[in-house]
Amino acid sequence: MVAISGSAQTDNGITGFAHARVAAERELEQKFQSFPDPARAESNLRHLTSEPHMSGTEASHRTAEWLLEQYRSFGFDAEIVTYSAWLPQPREIRLELVSPEKKQLATPEESFAADPDTSDPRAVMPFNAYSPSGEITAPVVYVNYGTPDDYQALESLGVSVEGKIVLARYARVYRGIKTKLAEEHKAAALILYSDPDEDGYVAGDTFPRGPWRPMSGIQRGSVLYTQIYPGDPLTPGVPATPDASRLQPADAANLPHIPTMPINAQDAGVILRNLGGQHVPAGWQGGLPLTYHTGPGAAQVHMKLTIDYAQRPVYDVIAKLHGANDDEWVLFGNHHDAWVFGAADPGSGTSAMLETARSLGELARTGWRPRRTIVFCAWDAEEPGLIGSTEWVVANRAELQSKAVAYINTDVGATGPNFAATSTPQLRDLIRDATREVQDPETKRSVYDAWRENSAHMQDDKSGTARQLAKPETPGEVPLSSPGAGSDFCPFLDFAGIPVADIGFTGEYGVYHSLYDDFYWMKHFGDPSFTYHAALARILGTIVLRLDEADILPFDYPAYTSQIARAEAALPGRPAWKAEYSAIVRPVSDAAVEFTEAAVRASLALREISSQAAAPPNARELNRALASVDQALLAPEGLAGRAWYKHTIFAPGSYAGYEAELLPGVTEAIDRNDPVALRMESESLAAALRRAAARLDEITRLARQSRTSASAASR
Ligand SMILES: [Zn+2]
Repeated sequence: MVAISGSAQTDNGITGFAHARVAAERELEQKFQSFPDPARAESNLRHLTSEPHMSGTEASHRTAEWLLEQYRSFGFDAEIVTYSAWLPQPREIRLELVSPEKKQLATPEESFAADPDTSDPRAVMPFNAYSPSGEITAPVVYVNYGTPDDYQALESLGVSVEGKIVLARYARVYRGIKTKLAEEHKAAALILYSDPDEDGYVAGDTFPRGPWRPMSGIQRGSVLYTQIYPGDPLTPGVPATPDASRLQPADAANLPHIPTMPINAQDAGVILRNLGGQHVPAGWQGGLPLTYHTGPGAAQVHMKLTIDYAQRPVYDVIAKLHGANDDEWVLFGNHHDAWVFGAADPGSGTSAMLETARSLGELARTGWRPRRTIVFCAWDAEEPGLIGSTEWVVANRAELQSKAVAYINTDVGATGPNFAATSTPQLRDLIRDATREVQDPETKRSVYDAWRENSAHMQDDKSGTARQLAKPETPGEVPLSSPGAGSDFCPFLDFAGIPVADIGFTGEYGVYHSLYDDFYWMKHFGDPSFTYHAALARILGTIVLRLDEADILPFDYPAYTSQIARAEAALPGRPAWKAEYSAIVRPVSDAAVEFTEAAVRASLALREISSQAAAPPNARELNRALASVDQALLAPEGLAGRAWYKHTIFAPGSYAGYEAELLPGVTEAIDRNDPVALRMESESLAAALRRAAARLDEITRLARQSRTSASAASR
């Protein structure tokens, strides 16, 4: 590894600005920092949580209309873009134990007098989006988390799930992977439940006394196979406009085939107590007060799901603050649809984004005009499967690829005081730098310092949400994870090759996708003072103003190459690795070296022009090249078995985790023990790395050219 860390163009703590513009940028950022207001963030959230607003309902439309009005009032040029997606609404969700005794299950989430919202009759009954309707009576087998390892363990115990209803606890992997695996192992149906060990009373006090999930709390959520492709299931790869040609549901590769439903811990306890079979293997015992068994046994369960699928409208809000240069876009976004009230997910992120946008509007009122166009996006139908964002990205791919600089997401913006971030590697320095500029409300030091302090002794987030905690790359540095599954940045990166990030503050958040993720929860536990919402708005604003105003985009490509080198070095550690694979992946190693050398050359060339007083005359071209390296890393033919996913470095795992699978084509070919696929994927990855190296050499050439012209001008 060539040891160049950090961005090439560091200058007075602000990267990418010509000398003459640093002071003005500092002043602009200072001015911005004074605008975000916790009281306004609170009133935003109060409005956003005033009614349940699931996608496909009139309430979701009302939320979009309100957001449209907000952005217009801040001075943005805003519109609603509508798609038509195949969306579910549950009509009947039933579950009962029929033997050895009769007992009604699928008990609802309890109402609490302290929080009147918890008795709102408009809350949708708990269900898993994209489960088929169905009715079945069968014995039950407990499969722990329902991961590949868990099925392997069951097999070695001689327990078959064929024809059974499997019971799996949430967490560890995306729930759609659990349904896929249950289906592949020929289970008849799947029941998902929240074990108190993950996000309930074992973790801490439960709602409304504390922030964790009460025994009746249920995690809703989609089981769409977004790992195959996200978005409207009937229109893969084309925008879901009303007149688009559509697949029949039977032909949609991302739709599950077995009925799946979520239940609470108290119902799971009833089933688990009645399971026969062996005592579970080590690590399978959860937090309920009983001894867990694998099943099957006497317990028979009857499940009946009636879910109504129809074409329903999806309302995206796209708001632009036009810059002097309308051909470069800096994009920010979060979804607005929620399973119920959605205070943390997604309201906290939306509320902070609104404060960021309002503050930019205030700056514009003082006469400032952005250099590039700033685009704020509020997506509908993220919860069922990243639908609003995917359809918009698919519809606008060519324009995004020629204009977008980066897309910054902030789903689940504030559930506590711990800053966390996911991003493509070239943006990591920018994110770290932005957190140095903002004060942590609790410790009064910088968010960066608090982040570094926390990450030294933080546990993995077990709540099953998307933003997992990463391990730091270098000891003592703050950790940033790689973008995998989980939110609306996915289509930007995986389909269009746009650099992405997802940022926010995390904490003790046990009410994910339940009735209890509401205003009361936020006001008592998540961020009672709303100061973390305001801090998030300040961080977002700092990132906006750097991406928008920079002369040369502050992108760090040596960081990208070190991530790839680490991923490549980890390949022989895969359990299915064979010695003869070394020769097959050799082209990847060679191309990775080319990419690294090109990144170092580009970084040095950019560093040389960073000392210039003014922006280089060919800055536009340089920036276009800097923003399009990820596009070079897209494989036109896509990944094996899931061609919608085009990025060769990052993808959601097909069978693992929420975090990214690195070098996904190659990694999964090794895991499948498929040398033929491994050869193809290695060649495809090597070709992508060489294209990216060529793009970086273009950056070097442009930087040298601008240096020559600058010195000619000064002579
Ligand atoms: Zn969300």
